[in-house]
Amino acid sequence: MFSLVIPAFNEEKCLYENINEIVKYVQKYDYEMILIDDGSKDNTWGVIQKLHSENSHIRGIRFSRNFGKEYALCAGVAEVQGDAAIIMDSDLQHPPEYIDAMIEKWSEGYKVVECVKEQRGKETLKNRISANAFYGLLYKFTGYNLKNGCDFKLLDRQVVDEINQLKESQVFFRGLVEWVGFKKCQIFYTMKERQGDTSKFNVKSLSKLALTAITSFSSSLLYLTIFLAILFFVIAIILGIQTLVNKISGNALTGFTTVILLQLIIGACVLGCLGIIGVYISKIYDEVKQRPRYIISEKI
Ligand code: UDP
Ligand code: MG
Repeated sequence: MFSLVIPAFNEEKCLYENINEIVKYVQKYDYEMILIDDGSKDNTWGVIQKLHSENSHIRGIRFSRNFGKEYALCAGVAEVQGDAAIIMDSDLQHPPEYIDAMIEKWSEGYKVVECVKEQRGKETLKNRISANAFYGLLYKFTGYNLKNGCDFKLLDRQVVDEINQLKESQVFFRGLVEWVGFKKCQIFYTMKERQGDTSKFNVKSLSKLALTAITSFSSSLLYLTIFLAILFFVIAIILGIQTLVNKISGNALTGFTTVILLQLIIGACVLGCLGIIGVYISKIYDEVKQRPRYIISEKI
């Protein structure tokens, strides 16, 4: 059996049709479907109840408020009873036609089957630029290349169990999947246009997600101070020598040399100390997350 995990936020308009469309593609399998109402303000929960009463494979989870898609996915994955979980959006932008191919790859032994956007569907220029900036920065800071990736994935039971064990409170789901590892393969698909109204994400929620993604998978921002300190130190030495040369050759105004040297020394010291504190904070941060040090994928 496998489980479908589908988050929904203010999707009353099309949820019923979309879910029934997805069911068409999975009813030949033994499946369960977990729908998460991420604190919708409209009648999404009512629709989920209706779906549940009509189809015993469908279960629902309802959040007390809107926590965001990442958390809805975590809640759904924590409920998974099947041997694998397929995660997808409720707006049919993740085409259910690909479920067969995903399951086939899974039966070939892949633990993570990722669907990768072959071309991003119809998108505005603004969206494309912000997506490129987001994935570019993420790659620079964390080394994870998630470009064109999305949350349309199949995760084996083992991967699901590992993800459920991660305790951190701020999550970027795709990052977690990347972090736990395991044998992975990709399927390419063309993203469709959204069924229903507009995207549920706005610039604010996307920026927040980007910041969480970068800060929870890398401490590099904290190391920036160390880098600045070294840069400043080098400049301080050069300027210091120049100031002293001026002083000795008698070209300096009285008192100026002391002021310049003090500024340089204090500046370099302050930045250096901040950098050291930054490094310790990054270590504390890594510890606080309480991630396991490694994950064993198999044992014989
Ligand atoms: N979603 C959610 N909580 C949110 C925002 C979105 O559960 O706070 C769900 C939404 O219902 C949909 C999926 O996440 O099933 C993707 O959202 P959307 O299609 O709006 O985003 P996009 O396609 O622009 O990435
Ligand atoms: Mg969408």
